[in-house]
Parts: sequence; C-alpha cells; structure tokens
Amino acid sequence: MADTALMSIPGQVDPIPAPRDITPRADGRSDLMGLPKDRIRDLFEQAGLDPKQAKLRAKQVYHWLYHRGVTDFAEMTDIAKSMRPWLTERFVVGRPDVVEAQHSSDGTRKWLLRTADGHDFEMVFIPDADRGTLCISSQVGCTLNCRFCHTGTMRLVRNLTPGEIVGQVMLARDSLGEWPKGRMDGLDEAETSAQYSSDGRLLTNIVLMGMGEPLYNFDNVRDAMRLVMDGEGLALSKRRITLSTSGVVPMMDRCGEEIGVNLAVSLHAVTKEVRDEIVPINRKYGIEELLAACAAYPGASNARRITFEYVMLDGKNDSDADAHELVRLLRKYDLPAKVNLIPFNPWPGAPYECSSPERIRRFSDIVFEAGISAPVRTPRGRDIDAACGQLKTSAQKKTRAERDRDAAAEVVEAG
Ligand code: SAH
Ligand code: SF4
Repeated sequence: MADTALMSIPGQVDPIPAPRDITPRADGRSDLMGLPKDRIRDLFEQAGLDPKQAKLRAKQVYHWLYHRGVTDFAEMTDIAKSMRPWLTERFVVGRPDVVEAQHSSDGTRKWLLRTADGHDFEMVFIPDADRGTLCISSQVGCTLNCRFCHTGTMRLVRNLTPGEIVGQVMLARDSLGEWPKGRMDGLDEAETSAQYSSDGRLLTNIVLMGMGEPLYNFDNVRDAMRLVMDGEGLALSKRRITLSTSGVVPMMDRCGEEIGVNLAVSLHAVTKEVRDEIVPINRKYGIEELLAACAAYPGASNARRITFEYVMLDGKNDSDADAHELVRLLRKYDLPAKVNLIPFNPWPGAPYECSSPERIRRFSDIVFEAGISAPVRTPRGRDIDAACGQLKTSAQKKTRAERDRDAAAEVVEAG
C-alpha cells in the first residue's frame, strides 16, 4: 500500500523523495555501500567486465565490503593487483561522515552522522554486561509526531538509503574494532567460524529504534537488514535484531515475512482517547487492529515474544486501571508478549513528565502478577541526550518556510 495514505494523519507531513540505492557523487564514482551482490555485479558489467569476471569480482568485493569491513580496494588481496586500480577509479566504499562522537558517563556512546548530501542523523551504542546494543536510525526526522518524542517534533527530511542504514552498523564495527581479522585467501588455516560469531563481541544486538519509523521506509530497511543478516555479509542473526514500529499495521505482515526480525510495538496507551493523543497514527490504525496484526505476526511465539513498549507519562497512561486494561488486551489477543516500561525521557519543551518511580513499580507489578514480564528499562545516555526519544538533529533549525525560500533561491540561481 502506498505511504501516501498517511496524508490524513494530522501534523507535519513531508514528501518522501524517491529512494535511491546509489548515492550520487561529484567525482563520478559509484558508492557500493548498501548494494547487494547482484547490483554490484551489474555495475561491474556496465563498467566493462565480461559476465563471468563481473560475477567473480562481485563475490570477492561483496565479501571484503560486508564481511571484512574493508573500504580500500588496494587491501582486497585476493583480487588481481592490476584490477584494484580499475576498481578504485570507478567505485568507492563509503561510510556516513561522523560529525561528532559523544560518550555518556554510563558508557553509552552517541554519534552524530551526516549523509553525503548533508543531512544529520544519530546512532547510539549501549554497552551492557552481557550484550552491546546498537540503536540505528531509519529516517532523518519522522513523518509521525508522537507527542512525547523529540524526533517527532522534526519534520521528515528524507528516508535513509540501504547504504546509510547498513553503514551505521559498519561504522560501529569500525569504531569498536570488530571486523574478523583472519586472511581470506585460503592460506589461513587457523581461521575458524568462531571469529565470525558474536561471542566475545561488544556489538551483539541491533535495534531499529533511532530516528524515524522503519516501516515507512520498508524497502530500504529490508535491503539493509538483508546485508546485516547474510552469512556472507555482516552475519548477525535475525534473533538479535529488533524493529520497533509505532504501529504501521499494513506493513507488519511483510516485516515478518520479508525481514523476519523481532518486533517491538510502541503501544504506550490502552484507550483510544489517550493513544490518539500521544501516538497519532492510532487515529488511522487503532489499538484492536494493531493487536490483531501482532497476533498474526509471522514468527512470533513464546520463544520469540513481541515487545510492547510503554512510555510512563505522569497522570496520562500510568494508572492501575491502565495496567489492568493492558493485561486484558494482551490476553484477549493471546499474544506472546513482554512489556517494556520506559521511563519518559525529558527534552526541552516536552508536554509531559515522567511517572514517579513508585507508580512505575506498581504498574510493573500489576502486569507481572498477571504472568507477563514487565521490566522497567533503565534510561541510558540521558546526559548526552542519547536516551529513547531524545534524538533530534539540527535539521529542525530551518522552518518549512525557510526551506521553501532556499529551494526557490536555488531555482532562481540555476535559472
Ligand atoms: N519510530 C519507532 C522507533 C523509534 S522510537 C517507534 O516509534 O516505535 C523507540 C522507542 O522510544 C519507541 O517506543 C518510542 O515511542 C520511544 N520514545 C520516544 N520518545 C520517548 C521519550 N521521550 N521517552 C521515552 N521513550 C520514548
Ligand atoms: Fe516517529 Fe517513533 Fe518518535 Fe513516533 S516515537 S515520532 S514514530 S520516531
């Protein structure tokens, strides 16, 4: 279904530019980041290699790119030496530019990143004792405007491309030094599969919980996650990836079928009145419709539960009655569910406050006593505005009118 159906949702809605899988570059070279093997092969053929050569080189380059994290063709040692300059003249392997990297006192790291065409977005790494979670963005800004979310106060600038999405994971591996180190020319007998597993790694999990609504950028998110999950690519298990949606019901089935990752749903309220207010997409896809789609989510089971995210807003959605209603709804749809209670993270001008710790505890107990796990998420990286819902980049600084003026000026200059 076309995303233009979104137009009836109140709030700022911006046009979504057509997705491009190759970022245009001023020097005429093509960026291979984010391309699957067959697209790389096509490009090699178009650049003059015969089909057999193109297929072989694409396989090699793909491996270096996604499995090894190599960005310089000169380092691709199993490719003929004479071939390497040919590649360098025509292609590049990019990464998002790092504008700023920040460290929180709790070990959380946040990177401010920039696309080749100058849009800023954010990525967060959250280390824990037994895992390390990378929180990545799918869009610059968001078309939706959940009232408690800082990103929701930005307009959508554009969808991120597959290269910009997978590029976040690759940049994190660069910065954590976590690419497999062994040789790949068959001479290194000592290289074992252990080097490719996540054991002992810092970055073990990925959550699509940064800026943007991933299911409104479905194709690019799917294509990026395929590279992340491919055993010959980044080789991260789909069980370690979680996609969070505010409830784009028509895309949930395809998410399960075509991506197959764990699902998290931003429920946040149990009545139409409150959810309409705080998660406005509810006016389009209501609670019951959403929960029915969750019940039908491909791959959900007691072993792979759906996470229901619930932000704790003082006096808004945090009563005992709300907790009981949450339990009733989850039972009604027989959902393999766990509830994640998120203390509201404040941002300047936010219209809500966080529920008290006692209130959150009580809410958690009610859900827990009904046999549903309901842990309270510890806020991470609040001191660097890296916690849930605090991400927002300077793209907001231009108003819509300013951007229209800029665009008009560009047209005048071009003319
Ligand atoms: N757009 C997707 C994923 C990004 S947000 C979605 O909405 O699901 C990741 C989670 O953080 C969502 O559950 C979101 O509702 C929640 N969140 C947003 N703003 C928040 C805030 N200020 N405090 C706590 N959680 C917040
Ligand atoms: Fe967008 Fe998610 Fe924020 Fe809602 S909570 S505005 S869907 S990023």
